[in-house]
Amino acid sequence: MSNKPYSFFGAVERSFDKAAAFTTWDKGILNQIKECNAVYQMRFPVKRDDGSIEVIEAYRVQHSHHKTPCKGGIRFAAEVNQDEVMALAALMTYKCAIVNVPFGGGKGGIKINPKKYSTYELEKITRRYTAELIKKNFIGPGTDVPAPDYGTGEREMAWILDTYAAMHPGEIDAAGCVTGKPITQGGVRGRREATGLGVFYGVREVCNMADIMQKLGLTTGLEGKRVIVQGLGNVGYHSAKFFQQAGAKIVALAEYEGAIQSDAGLDVDAVFQHRKSTGSILNFPGPKNFEKSSDALEKECDILIPAALENVIDGENAPRINAKLIGEAANGPLTPEADEILAKKGTIVIPDMYLNAGGVTVSYFEWLKNLSHVRYGRLEKRFTENQNAHILGQMEALSGKKVGQTERESILHGPDEVDLVYSGLEETMITATHEIMNTWKANPSIPDMRTAAYVVAINKVGTSYAELGIFP
Ligand code: NAD
Repeated sequence: MSNKPYSFFGAVERSFDKAAAFTTWDKGILNQIKECNAVYQMRFPVKRDDGSIEVIEAYRVQHSHHKTPCKGGIRFAAEVNQDEVMALAALMTYKCAIVNVPFGGGKGGIKINPKKYSTYELEKITRRYTAELIKKNFIGPGTDVPAPDYGTGEREMAWILDTYAAMHPGEIDAAGCVTGKPITQGGVRGRREATGLGVFYGVREVCNMADIMQKLGLTTGLEGKRVIVQGLGNVGYHSAKFFQQAGAKIVALAEYEGAIQSDAGLDVDAVFQHRKSTGSILNFPGPKNFEKSSDALEKECDILIPAALENVIDGENAPRINAKLIGEAANGPLTPEADEILAKKGTIVIPDMYLNAGGVTVSYFEWLKNLSHVRYGRLEKRFTENQNAHILGQMEALSGKKVGQTERESILHGPDEVDLVYSGLEETMITATHEIMNTWKANPSIPDMRTAAYVVAINKVGTSYAELGIFP
């Protein structure tokens, strides 16, 4: 064992190198794809509510400029460090390429535990961070567009937009400087649940592949599958809800204070409400408690969804994981050692950089909405409904039969914004799943789905660099 501390960016580089061996790109191009183009490390002061001054450490990394703007979330967490932000920015480059979102990868982080700051302090920190980004041209609708990540949400995105707009008076596209905003501030319907929904679409697509399910000894489809979810935040909560709605059984839910397990299945909303009112997931009436949250990861299930943080399954606990399929909803939940152990066990790992791309995909839709200054569906909804009513009327007149009320409503319905966003996301995830699986099947020596996903990403980013040429 080496004494070197674990490097998340190093792990991403290792996965990259493993995949690069299955491509034919020149070494120079591969190096250019792999490196972080720009790393902005900053320190700024904030006056706390008690009058003391604290110096805040923060980052923004732009991993790739092969497409602009750069895109990636902003994380608020005590563990934030440069290595982590670099790794997350790199994953964003590959993620955007895989789901055909025309952005370069970026990521931001502020090293604070948001729970230890008042709302007013968080607002000051977020606004100051935005001002620092503006100073160095590290934010803007055409340069770099942040989004929510661990520890941030719509509220922080609204503060970022307001700060940016105040410092760019009259900039007509200012709303496109950040995504994941509240609807009233230019957000798009469906963004809040987008990452969880994308996780669901991706896992569902893999579960619909008869050959893969046969290898795992499972039936096709999601109905009745036993699912464990770690992290009941934005991504975990929505993933769990969509799995439950599709007929899967949520047999365990884990939060940082502990976990609960029930073979009969848990109602996600009821657990969420229980945690909200008691402050803990534990002691939900009925299920078994685990004080040690990570124990839940090792329970037997068909699908395990780590949706909290990176590095939760490593060489130590990987041998005890009892899931047939792991859907990486969080970024980097498995270390490369865990990957190798699980690949040997025959576990299928659906990789983060494609599976949790729902957020960035719908962020792309939000950005397009901001630049076009019109809500999706506004132009065609009524027209489509009128057309549908006309067609249905003609069919009823010809057949002499009337369709029932529920059917009528469903046939007549013209698309709302959320319908178009869900449909665009579903199409994106299905297409990406097949692209990755086809790459894997075309080259059986590719060891796992993560490597196949990297091959897809490297080929797309490589093509972009090769076609652009390298600036002299
Ligand atoms: P979040 O802050 O909304 O939720 C994270 C949840 O995990 C919290 O409820 C937290 O209490 C819980 N948690 C923390 N440590 C835990 C532990 N040891 N065991 C169990 N639970 C624990 O964050 P999020 O936005 O849902 O992000 C989660 C992950 O998904 C991160 O890795 C993030 O990078 C990734 N991700 C998020 C998005 C997005 O759109 N929000 C998009 C892509 C990827």
